[in-house]
Amino acid sequence: MHAAVSDGADTLECRLDYLGEPPSEPQLKLLLTDPPAELIVTCRAQREGGRFRGTEEQRLNILATAAKFNPTFIDVEMDVSPGYWPDAKIIQSHHNFDRVPEDLDRIFATQEASSASVNKIAFAASGPEDALLALDLIRNAKKPTLALAMCETGVLSRILAAKVGAFGTFATLNTGAGSAPGQPTLDACLNLYRWNRIRENTPVYGVIGCPIGHSMSPAIHNAALRATDLDGVYVPLKIEPDEENFNRFMDAALERKWLNLRGLSVTIPHKENALAYIGADRCDPLAVRIGAVNTITLNEDGSLYGDNTDYAAAIDAVCNAMDISREQLAGRKVAVLGAGGVARAVVAALTHYQAETTVYNRTLRRAKALAKEFSCAAAKLKGATKSEAEILINCTSIGMSPQIEETPLRRLPSSARVVFDTIYNPMETRLLIEARAAGCLCVSGLEMFVNQAVAQFERWTGVNAPREVMRQVVVERLTGRES
Ligand code: NAP
Repeated sequence: MHAAVSDGADTLECRLDYLGEPPSEPQLKLLLTDPPAELIVTCRAQREGGRFRGTEEQRLNILATAAKFNPTFIDVEMDVSPGYWPDAKIIQSHHNFDRVPEDLDRIFATQEASSASVNKIAFAASGPEDALLALDLIRNAKKPTLALAMCETGVLSRILAAKVGAFGTFATLNTGAGSAPGQPTLDACLNLYRWNRIRENTPVYGVIGCPIGHSMSPAIHNAALRATDLDGVYVPLKIEPDEENFNRFMDAALERKWLNLRGLSVTIPHKENALAYIGADRCDPLAVRIGAVNTITLNEDGSLYGDNTDYAAAIDAVCNAMDISREQLAGRKVAVLGAGGVARAVVAALTHYQAETTVYNRTLRRAKALAKEFSCAAAKLKGATKSEAEILINCTSIGMSPQIEETPLRRLPSSARVVFDTIYNPMETRLLIEARAAGCLCVSGLEMFVNQAVAQFERWTGVNAPREVMRQVVVERLTGRES
């Protein structure tokens, strides 16, 4: 309790059902007298996801004993009358660990009509749109309310609770120590998402993808908002694959103007879905040719715009290192290794700026298909050693952590002057180490990664991005030195 308060918690929840043995009165006295902050006492029944194994009578007796020490609140389930503790302030709670209850409105109306001081409802979310349902409840409630969409998909409800005037949110001291799925740490709440600064009108940004847990985007963008002292919060939005799931969230989010959603990063597997949702006529033409949107901007008038900041980020990483403009790529020989999603964005950009491009890939058929679409040449991956390219760009995943000893080419082509590896983990791949030893100008995928985030930030906020801060966040994450 003291650790939580010194880390910034203003209210504590004491879960008596987590104790190994049912506590005695002297133990409760020791635990609950003079707490360092406001205190909620809970002894959750198993039927609502708690750990208390004794009888209902024992459970209620423990809570009655706890009440003698005047905790700020006692949290009890809806099938226990709040009148059981006439002198205590009651949080009346309902939990569904499987889904959004079909009778959500009825349950909530019952809570609103009860004599309890605070409503609490928690349900498992199947998508972030369910988190919006929880936020709706809080917005429309007459009483102080906690409404939480559990699981990774529902994190939005926990972070944006501050936006809609919730009674609070739950956070854990350490990762994995939560009492319900999806709880962020106290440190993330206060320092990453800046909970104490979120207001009704705070602009919201986020990253859509699946999986999303390891995305560095929330760390990068929230650090950038903080460094520029801009109002805003950037949240992870886990959406299961399939267009239907993507569309369901987008419809629900756009319907809620109060959310003040301003921008979305989009990653695997939803980049094609984003393009389809927005429509080609409202997307950057090159993003349409690539077939992928990784940046959605919500304009003041509510309309959407779709961009692909990956392609620009990739070629700008090369051009900046070479100190040339994009236009000066024209006529230069470039070898692109790989024919997947990243290669597609890179080839689209290179051919757009008229670089003389050849796609080299293990599966020749894929190289040919990509080359045909963008009117350039194709060959087998091995053939790249004999290429006459001045610029070599690796868009395969070979050499990526943990296979850091691997390299896509046994030998660099003798013509190569510039080598760009789109891989950013590790920051210096074996390919780059060998290229540096051969005297080439080397560019790490880190630059592309930072460039695309910088472009998103500037597009959404209209403010110069704090590039060095953003770069530092990525470097710290990749080297395991983050706080
Ligand atoms: P992808 O669509 O899965 O394509 C993977 C490519 O790698 C294909 O061309 C594949 O060849 C080739 N490949 C994979 N394993 C191979 C092997 N053992 N031998 C030969 N070729 C192999 O992946 P992607 O989305 O394009 O991503 C590629 C890389 O880009 C990722 O690994 C990541 O490190 C990097 N990336 C960087 C950034 C950034 O911002 N810097 C962003 C996203 C991704 P086949 O066609 O023959 O299978």
